[in-house]
Amino acid sequence: MPIEIKCITPLEIKGGMNEVLTISGNGFGKQRGNNYVTFTNIETEKKFTADQAKRFTYKNWSDTEITLLMPYAYSDKVIINIDDTEYLSEEILRVKANLYTKTSIGDYILIDNNGQGGYTYFIHRSFYSNPEAIIAIEEVFKVLRRSTGVNFVLSKRPACGEANWGNTRNLISPDKKPQCAYEYIDSGSCLNSGDTFIYAKNMSIGFNPNHNWFYGNGKAPKGWAKFRYALMHELGHHVGLGHVNEKGQTMFPTVANDEATVDSWCESDTFTSEEIEVMSSIVRNSQKITFIGCGIKPMSIISNPDDIYV
Ligand SMILES: [Zn+2]
Repeated sequence: MPIEIKCITPLEIKGGMNEVLTISGNGFGKQRGNNYVTFTNIETEKKFTADQAKRFTYKNWSDTEITLLMPYAYSDKVIINIDDTEYLSEEILRVKANLYTKTSIGDYILIDNNGQGGYTYFIHRSFYSNPEAIIAIEEVFKVLRRSTGVNFVLSKRPACGEANWGNTRNLISPDKKPQCAYEYIDSGSCLNSGDTFIYAKNMSIGFNPNHNWFYGNGKAPKGWAKFRYALMHELGHHVGLGHVNEKGQTMFPTVANDEATVDSWCESDTFTSEEIEVMSSIVRNSQKITFIGCGIKPMSIISNPDDIYV
């Protein structure tokens, strides 16, 4: 029997969420041995290395079927490596959303960081001179809270300073980085009885002040960068989403100004169902943490999603 992949199920999946991927075909061998399945790695945009791919969670490996837990990866053909030869699927596996997992952070967890159940964001004073910018920020926070229940609120007190690593409060501000927009997550940690608990501590978002920002809904006019899309994308990271290479998803990385401006794929003003599922699961886990130490408390459930100010 030649080695071949006949089909993959499902064809649409979420990464990092312990969803099971089944690969059916022939000639996979009776057991995994030194063989492995690999995907396109988001960080490198190349395949996961053999060492990385061997560490995925394989549930079953037989001559005709392989099952494994879907890792954080990009949409692409699925590759099986058998005796150092690669076999590609005909079909493309589409990864519609990814749980953001940085090995240095471990499981992504939000806590009660402001003593009021969640995280308070401060808006830079430069945005206050533009009422359209404030409305855009307020509406994006409502959309995020309504879809996920995340306890992110805004302070009415204008802030100064610039988004950066090591910010001691969560800022939405101009940023000198060349990208359209940029997000920062500093993690905090607490050690108690040999357990290290790591959580998202300070999170900021910077916007490149040299772009023409369009603050409205829908499609941005030619030559303008859509502020709401960029804000939703960066807040998506803060709630725990990683990138995907699927246009139409909020987490498609907006690397070039041109990409964030005129293409119709970023005209949506809501998160997709897959993104909402991943974010809601992180929020639920963050509401259930049982770690005791350093005064850490779980994120609280919000009562009114439209109550966006502290
Ligand atoms: Zn991003």
